[in-house]
Amino acid sequence: MDQQELRRREDQCIQDELPWCAAACPLHIDVRAFVGHLARSDRKEALGTLRRTMPLPNILGRICDAPCEEHCKRSEAGEAIRIGALERYCVCQGSEPQKLLPLPPRGKRIAIAGSGLSSLAAAWDCLRKGYGVCIFEPGKRPGGSLAEGYPDLLPWKVIEDEIAFLVKLGMEIQPGAAADGPGFLDNCLQSFGAVYVGLDSLRAGPWGLEEDDTGSIRVDPGTQGTSREGVFAGGLPRGGRISPVWQAAEGRFAANSMDRYLQRVSLTAGREKEGPLPTRLFAGITDVIPLPAIEASDPPKGYTSEEALHEARRCLQCQCLECVKVCVYLERFGAYPRKYTREIYNNESIVRGAHQANKLINSCSLCGLCEAVCPEGFAMQDLCREARESMVERGKMPPSAHEFALQDMAFSLSDRFALARHGPGLKASAQAFFPGCQLSGSQPDKVIAVYEYLRSRLTGGVGLMLGCCGAPAWWAGSREQFASCLEAVMGQWSSLGGPKLIFACSTCLRIFKDHLPEVAVTSLWTVLDEMEGPIPPGTSREPSLVLHDPCTTRSEPGIQTSVRHILGRLGVRVGELELGRARTECCGFGGLQQNANPEMARETARVRARRSEEDYLAYCAMCRDRLASAGKRVLHVLDLLFPDPRVPDPAALKDPGWSRRQENRSRLKDRFLEDLWSEPLMRTAEHRKIKLEIEPEVRVLLEERRILDEDLRKVIHHAEMSGEKFFHPETGRFKAAFRPRKVTFWVEYGRGAEGFVVYNAYSHRMELRVS
Ligand code: SF4
Ligand code: SF4
Ligand code: SF4
Repeated sequence: MDQQELRRREDQCIQDELPWCAAACPLHIDVRAFVGHLARSDRKEALGTLRRTMPLPNILGRICDAPCEEHCKRSEAGEAIRIGALERYCVCQGSEPQKLLPLPPRGKRIAIAGSGLSSLAAAWDCLRKGYGVCIFEPGKRPGGSLAEGYPDLLPWKVIEDEIAFLVKLGMEIQPGAAADGPGFLDNCLQSFGAVYVGLDSLRAGPWGLEEDDTGSIRVDPGTQGTSREGVFAGGLPRGGRISPVWQAAEGRFAANSMDRYLQRVSLTAGREKEGPLPTRLFAGITDVIPLPAIEASDPPKGYTSEEALHEARRCLQCQCLECVKVCVYLERFGAYPRKYTREIYNNESIVRGAHQANKLINSCSLCGLCEAVCPEGFAMQDLCREARESMVERGKMPPSAHEFALQDMAFSLSDRFALARHGPGLKASAQAFFPGCQLSGSQPDKVIAVYEYLRSRLTGGVGLMLGCCGAPAWWAGSREQFASCLEAVMGQWSSLGGPKLIFACSTCLRIFKDHLPEVAVTSLWTVLDEMEGPIPPGTSREPSLVLHDPCTTRSEPGIQTSVRHILGRLGVRVGELELGRARTECCGFGGLQQNANPEMARETARVRARRSEEDYLAYCAMCRDRLASAGKRVLHVLDLLFPDPRVPDPAALKDPGWSRRQENRSRLKDRFLEDLWSEPLMRTAEHRKIKLEIEPEVRVLLEERRILDEDLRKVIHHAEMSGEKFFHPETGRFKAAFRPRKVTFWVEYGRGAEGFVVYNAYSHRMELRVS
């Protein structure tokens, strides 16, 4: 990802956009945080939030006309938050004296004419920026015009205190100055670097400044500059209305301009975000209950603490996070896609050193739900998968990240499982059934039943293709392995004369659709749905079931509908999950989440399993098994279509585990070859003849450590044949190590009644060399 792409992706996530209140405020007060503190009864923090951005908070907090309220999102579900009243409540409660830490003195001075709100706000900001400030007030009492404007809201003492505070920061005051007289600006410009004229408290004087058609001083709305260099002005009514917050804002904009002017930098560059802004933020409010605003019981006094609390609690704390709300992965890493994009970019750009975001990159299940719920269509799955690819290409991917899944894939591509045949006795296949690794590993009997059924109903010959679609390599970002996998399946497909492929697994279907467009494909569910006449007999099961759509059908609404039709034809009624169809959630298998972050994958499955109390019905073998491993009772649609009398309660079936999956695949191929094609079986390798006895708790451990029976057999076979093993005389057990691939396996075992008892096993990447 280059810098440009980084920015494009960051911009696509709008979580950092301002909420409507802050965007509409000319000063961009952090209203969301301010109201949030009040909603937690933390007035001190609320005041701190105001003080961080608001000039003269004790004055403006009392009289702000709150134009933000007009834009408040709450107004779409009830009434807008009374932000102005909450600010008034907050500053009226009294508090510790405020602190303002000015920058070091700059040795330059600014003259400010008038002492209305805009002038005092300009003074506030200029002092903070380290400028000396002198106020020229024609009247006797600085702040006098302010006091006259708001007799009910603004006690004189408050104005006096705020001015005293500014004086403490170094502000000088010249009362009775002829600020509106001739020569004032000339004199000022001789002794000061810049001048601000507060038009909210001064009548325009004979200053020689250009005026507009209405006779008002012409002021540039972007900079507050006038026709005279070094002279700035502001504070006039807006749209015929006096707006205190705009007066303060114009004082602030002018202070920025004077600072730029004195530093001789552009008056205009990079100021697009000053003043009210449009916002692209999204905040879902469909579930928000409309509520009216809280009225103060004694309006002149304003809110009581209780009333302020209730009003603040109506605030929606507007933010997006639509994706984070539905994704365990996004939520667990503690931020949101905009931030993750930067982390992933940084991780990728490191040439040397620790790659901190590897876990972040490898834990996404690539399910695409984020893209489906995001108002801007942010596709975290693309970001993570591309980052994986780039890391693999540059040799930066730790080998352990996806190794197990890639080995499992290699197994499915090997002659232990891969097979392509025309239907028994046929020389052509108009179509071929591709059950995929997971259904074959989990429910081999169903693969046999489906194949038999398809052969009995479809004309033109139905071939069989056992193999892997390459999804693990695609998810792992391993281009090379993915390409060789596609090459292998294309070889199988061509050997059958290029039939249309019927997929039981929607992951395989998607992989073929996206990467092998020359292959005609369809889903088993579409085929069954389109079949005329009776479909397989099914059961008359009547309990309530809830349908779980695999995440790989997210963009396949046709398949989702076909499954529902089939169930309808079977007379099975199913409920829908709120997050179903295009918004369905992952079971934790996709994207190799299970490899990179097993605990997160378990949590993903648990969260999905908890979405409904009812038993689930799945139509992806891996979803079924993952949900079952999260303790859910879950059926596969094939359990309804092809019930097995030997399995009275298929919803209670457990996840078979990694070893059993491989064995099931291997046996499935043997059964097909023997039963349908009467072909001799391959000679079984010697180590595979070893019988293992494994207690359930040891089995759990082996599953967690991803140690397969095949690995155990190889170690024991090697130890028994070579004699390279340790013997523990007290326990009577052996311990042996063997390195059949890039991993060394250690097995603690003993002799059992029919074979070997495995007590423990573990693995590491270190190679043992005995010298
Ligand atoms: S849904 Fe997620 S990615 Fe999309 S804008 Fe919101 S926070 Fe950002
Ligand atoms: S609901 Fe709260 S956060 Fe949202 S716009 Fe209104 S005040 Fe701001
Ligand atoms: S796990 Fe799914 S929803 Fe979550 S970020 Fe990855 S692709 Fe998006």
